[in-house]
Amino acid sequence: MAYLYINSIMDNPSLCDGVGYRTVLFLQGCNLHCTGCQNQSTWDITKGKKIDVKELAKQLREKCFNKKLTITGGEPLMQKDSLLELLNELSDFDLCLYTGHELKEVPAEILSYLKYIKVGPFVQELKITTKPFVGSKNQEFLEVSRDVKTK
Ligand code: SF4
Repeated sequence: MAYLYINSIMDNPSLCDGVGYRTVLFLQGCNLHCTGCQNQSTWDITKGKKIDVKELAKQLREKCFNKKLTITGGEPLMQKDSLLELLNELSDFDLCLYTGHELKEVPAEILSYLKYIKVGPFVQELKITTKPFVGSKNQEFLEVSRDVKTK
């Protein structure tokens, strides 16, 4: 049985966390510790709620009426094996992942489930409010099938 440590599921869908009107899942745990992070309450994985992946998928199906889901954190790749299970459970969804890692660090198997991905750490000195769906200039928001070369 696979488990994920989650922080929360946003009460209402968001227009700011990827393309379209999206349900947002915050996973718990981040080991990147970017200076200026706005989500420091997600850093300690032991403060998350442990939930069975199949149960979480069921809850997301009930909540996410349009099947557009963004998974953020925290750092989702900290729990990459269980994350992969969740992506597989929701493979018919339009899935977006927010990670602080660079694109080359994202496992190809995870990428294969995603429609969109935001990559790169938050860098306070490069903070920007005019680039869609990112917090700092170094970060990239990519449409996987268009912008990412997979071998
Ligand atoms: S990766 Fe995200 S959650 Fe983690 S420290 Fe950086 S901004 Fe915060």
